[in-house]
Amino acid sequence: MNIAVVGTGYVGLVTGVSLSDVGHTVTCIDIDNEKILKMKQGISPIYEPGLSDMMTRNIHEGRLHFTSDHQEGFESAEVIYIAVGTPEREDGSADLSFVEQVAKDIAFHAIRNTVVVTKSTVPVGTNDKIQSIIDESLVQQVNLEVVSNPEFLKEGSAIYDSFNGDRIVIGANSKEAANILEEINKPFGVPVFKTDIKSAEMIKYASNAFLATKISFINEISNICERLGANVEDVANGMGMDKRIGDKFLNAGIGYGGSCFPKDTKALIQIAGNVEYEFELLKGVVKVNQKQQGLLLAKLNERIPDLTGKRIAVLGLAFKPNTDDMREAASLVVTENLIYSGAEVMAYDPVAIDNAKKILNDDVRYASCVEDAVKNSDATLILTEWDEVRNVDLDVFKSMNYPLVIDGRNCFELEEMKDNNIEYHSVGRPVQN
Ligand code: NAD
Repeated sequence: MNIAVVGTGYVGLVTGVSLSDVGHTVTCIDIDNEKILKMKQGISPIYEPGLSDMMTRNIHEGRLHFTSDHQEGFESAEVIYIAVGTPEREDGSADLSFVEQVAKDIAFHAIRNTVVVTKSTVPVGTNDKIQSIIDESLVQQVNLEVVSNPEFLKEGSAIYDSFNGDRIVIGANSKEAANILEEINKPFGVPVFKTDIKSAEMIKYASNAFLATKISFINEISNICERLGANVEDVANGMGMDKRIGDKFLNAGIGYGGSCFPKDTKALIQIAGNVEYEFELLKGVVKVNQKQQGLLLAKLNERIPDLTGKRIAVLGLAFKPNTDDMREAASLVVTENLIYSGAEVMAYDPVAIDNAKKILNDDVRYASCVEDAVKNSDATLILTEWDEVRNVDLDVFKSMNYPLVIDGRNCFELEEMKDNNIEYHSVGRPVQN
């Protein structure tokens, strides 16, 4: 199939590259010319394990192309994917301006019957709106049918997820369009679930809201565990053995971040509000998450009430391991507060430092490895559970002024920290000192 993908962010680029890898001819389109020039040379603008290699291979084999010219990109496309951003507006609702612009661009350039696939996460009813915009803006007498195909990849394992996802959801008005999309995706061997468009749109929001609920739930349990002297990891393990509950997404920590859960939970509250329904449970989930982001600073302040001139090591800046994505990362709040309190911040992340420099407070300093960040510090805060952090030689903490580790991701066993005489505060587990 000849496919065009509009938007080459985390979703669009991974989608385009994976589709080319299973044999389709793909043109990726983006308005960011700098990105396009990089990608034409085989350089990925984002960090995602396995992406660069797969990208270079498919460029060389002639199946993967890049352009910033919509007309050129759509020229031979039988199917066009929309994968542009739907960021959060100030009131929490989803900003659909990028998606709507693409709908107009598609209609303007369309010269043949085409299936238009919405990958972007959009509120229920948006695909109908996209269809209307396209129908109203068409220049040629052609038929364009919009299909919903929400994306479930996880940053950090996006390529793996494309080939090993749990399901592909297709929401369509006609069997013909749904079948075309099913055919395109056949080589991935992932189970397909077909439904109507509105249900497909809701599946995406409901899935993210449910996962966010699990996280906020276990974080609430962890706060109670701390007060009672129980160990939340054992609690989560014991809960997770029940197949009805499942053992995933029960890691207590400093809350969820990233480009999806924070915005999608708030958007779903808005979607419900638009039909006069108050989503009380989800409002609680969001509130708990905001509270949880302040947990590490509260623990640090209890131990060091005056942070003026104190050197604080921050390990991990990305919102989760294996990505360079800094959107809604806990590090944004934590480093800003540390600087505001007069602390000197020495931060380290294996891949997100370039992105961090663009958005974190200018006073944050950066180290080139865990060891350099931690050396001579008065406390170490762990914000992202990178393997490099989890597997660090614990002797590194002995190079601190005093070995005080406050871990927002429960990277270490309590016993090993005790054996190494490290004062260790984690989430939902007894303090070791
Ligand atoms: P992103 O912000 O990383 O990328 C969006 C890209 O679209 C940018 O490169 C931008 O330049 C480009 N763009 C904007 N307008 C354009 C236009 N008119 N023509 C061509 N290109 C244009 O976004 P993302 O993280 O890839 O997310 C895309 C969508 O997928 C969002 O709706 C998001 O909610 C959803 N989603 C994201 C993830 C994730 O993990 N990032 C997972 C599932 C779903």
